[in-house]
Amino acid sequence: MSGSPIAPLKPMPIIRTTQTIRYFQGVPIMTISTNTEALNATALATRAIHAGQEPDPTTGAVVTPIYMTSTFKQDGVGGLRNGYDYSRSINPTRNSFDEQLAAVEGAKYALSFSSGLAAIDVLLRSTLKPGDNILLGNDVYGGTYRLLSKVFVPWGIGLDVVDITDTAAVSAALAKKQYAYIWVETPSNPLLNITDIAATAAVAHAHGTKVVVDNTFASPVLQHPLADGADVVVYSTTKYIGGHSDVVGGAVVLNDKETRDAVAFLQNAAGAVPSPFDSWLDIRGLKTLDLRVKQHSRNAMKVAQWLETRPEVERVWYPGLESHPGHDIAARQMHGGFGGMISIQIAAGFEAAKKFAGATEVFTLAESLGGVESLIEHPGAMTHASVAGTTLEVPANLIRLSVGLEDADDLIADLEQAFRQI
Ligand SMILES: *Cc1c(COP(=O)(O)O)cnc(C)c1O
Repeated sequence: MSGSPIAPLKPMPIIRTTQTIRYFQGVPIMTISTNTEALNATALATRAIHAGQEPDPTTGAVVTPIYMTSTFKQDGVGGLRNGYDYSRSINPTRNSFDEQLAAVEGAKYALSFSSGLAAIDVLLRSTLKPGDNILLGNDVYGGTYRLLSKVFVPWGIGLDVVDITDTAAVSAALAKKQYAYIWVETPSNPLLNITDIAATAAVAHAHGTKVVVDNTFASPVLQHPLADGADVVVYSTTKYIGGHSDVVGGAVVLNDKETRDAVAFLQNAAGAVPSPFDSWLDIRGLKTLDLRVKQHSRNAMKVAQWLETRPEVERVWYPGLESHPGHDIAARQMHGGFGGMISIQIAAGFEAAKKFAGATEVFTLAESLGGVESLIEHPGAMTHASVAGTTLEVPANLIRLSVGLEDADDLIADLEQAFRQI
């Protein structure tokens, strides 16, 4: 017999216990309790499929139902069943996703929102007051910059922008002024710059500054900011977590109870919650995240390596390539791949870049990212138009690719025919 030896099996601890509590019209109603400690000891792919996904206690439905209800019957005034009163405050489908996401992240708490920007808004508004300052990376999602500069700055928040990949520059900025938060996006959008989360957290914490990581591009599969020292992680679940370009959503994930309570208070007070159907789509997406993100990464690596050989391309930005300035940090900080996002600069300039973005057939010209279908866009004219003329402006010849789950050779053939048209 040949082949690699099979590792001895670890005994599987008991994850779920079921107990009959009462009968309803002859049907036993069960309580199912999850041994969270045992479940959290399993691998990410297992947690993604089982955390928060207890079969329905009444019917045994394996998939969490979409509890499309705004309100819940009370058994006498104040007699709430399991705390359910009103769906802005609490909904079983949303709870199911929050538990699943917290377990995938290895965090204590996750709170979901109706969009990534709603999550960011509520995190900041619930924990900052006028006069506080934020130190922002110079290459972030355009909508985050718009929210901060056009809404939070007029509200009285101080905003400074720094080259976040340069720990010395970050350290110098932190020494000059007291910042409540430092905002990190890594890989960043759209240049895929890499920031060392652990090094940034060490410097920030020495100055009493908290670190927020927007982990949307890496997803919880490839990068674990809380374990690296970040205080809060935010997501646009619209992207890899939803994964099928069919839902807009966001989340705040963290371990600190005080911050969690502040965020939960404003979530309920202001109400930017996802619908039960949105939550169900997020649940379904998250179950296959591990599988998808690893394949996105394999496809993107193959496409990026091919792009590097092309004369039409002035520069490829992909953290998996050794030519990328953040490659060494990314290789240490990311696990199991470098993600599905690639940016390229077209040698012939702006007009050629626009033409190229309009010439692909498998890659769809559209904003957003992280879905199963490949997308192409021109950041300067599309996603990052709101940062034109600011320190966050992106190169005019830049094209961003969200590499999907089609066959990588088909994607390469599509890009090749588009190059022939510019
Ligand atoms: C899309 C995106 C957001 C905003 O999320 P929405 O769901 O569109 O509100 C924030 N950060 C990053 C990195 C994103 O890509």
